Amino acid sequence: MQKDLVIIDCQKQTKSEIIKSIPKILKKNQKLKLINCQDPELKKIAKAVNYQDLKKRYQYIYDEVCQFLDEQFDKHNYCQFKNDLCISAQKKHSHYREYGCCYIRPVKKWYHFSKRELKEGKCEYLDGHQCQTKSIACKLFTCYYLQEQNIRFSPDDIILLKYFFNKKQKKIIETSFYTSKEDMIEKLLKNK
Ligand code: SF4
Ligand code: SF4
Repeated sequence: MQKDLVIIDCQKQTKSEIIKSIPKILKKNQKLKLINCQDPELKKIAKAVNYQDLKKRYQYIYDEVCQFLDEQFDKHNYCQFKNDLCISAQKKHSHYREYGCCYIRPVKKWYHFSKRELKEGKCEYLDGHQCQTKSIACKLFTCYYLQEQNIRFSPDDIILLKYFFNKKQKKIIETSFYTSKEDMIEKLLKNK
């Protein structure tokens, strides 16, 4: 058996046991081979582990997590847009109005944004009703109204983020709104 290859039989270990072994495998920079694996999430985790090129690994994780979040928002229709007003705006629950949180209103506590990013208006990436970039921070974000309904996503809820990024990187993933995939990957690589 190759020293840098870990082989796990999914019929002999539970999913949570396999997941718990991921940090050690990543720390040792090993590859992972799952046999008898039917679980799509475990297959994605193994695929991410096996990208030895960090940039390619991050790009893969980024796409997978964005797709997962898009599916969740589509399936559950969390934001319930009607005539450009999301549910939070319909209930006048927040400062969000048309275009929901894709309309930027500067809020003082968002201290980490530059002045350019704080400029009020429709986000520069919103064209028609479509986001023209793929910002993972925007996709993870839910407003207070949704959070009160227990709809919230944190990097630690998603295995592909939880074990593959450090604390600083997770903060970046959560807070770098209006950021393209390319810029985000660069930021993550700089903070690895
Ligand atoms: S997350 Fe909240 S503010 Fe943003 S679009 Fe959805 S309901 Fe509206
Ligand atoms: S970058 Fe974020 S705020 Fe801008 S359009 Fe896309 S999802 Fe909306």
